[in-house]
Amino acid sequence: MMQNNYKINFQIQITRAVVLCDICLKMVESCSAVNCCNRRRKDVKMKFERIPTDPNMRKLWLHAIRRENFTPSTTTVICKKHFTSGDYEVSVHGNKALKKVAVPSVFDFPAHLEKEPIAIEGF
Ligand SMILES: [Zn+2]
Repeated sequence: MMQNNYKINFQIQITRAVVLCDICLKMVESCSAVNCCNRRRKDVKMKFERIPTDPNMRKLWLHAIRRENFTPSTTTVICKKHFTSGDYEVSVHGNKALKKVAVPSVFDFPAHLEKEPIAIEGF
């Protein structure tokens, strides 16, 4: 009986941790790029872009981000720093909007990620 209680308590704790984590993710959006710790702040105006839902664009973005074992969620964002001015266009409303075909290209990779991955072995 004691053991059962212990198990239940443990499960409740896990559930709570997950809930807390979800809330944190929603409250603070931080950049997912390697070596970048920009996060959404009230005092600094920083634009964040969500990972596209289009499977092809998503693949290109994830390839560009180069993070291992990285599964983006619906709240995963990348800050403006990783795009060039050419990645943006002025919309009909006069706002700057990220082009649909834009892929993040400006990163500060550590040395082991610096090299372009070799697509074809032996060439
Ligand atoms: Zn960033």
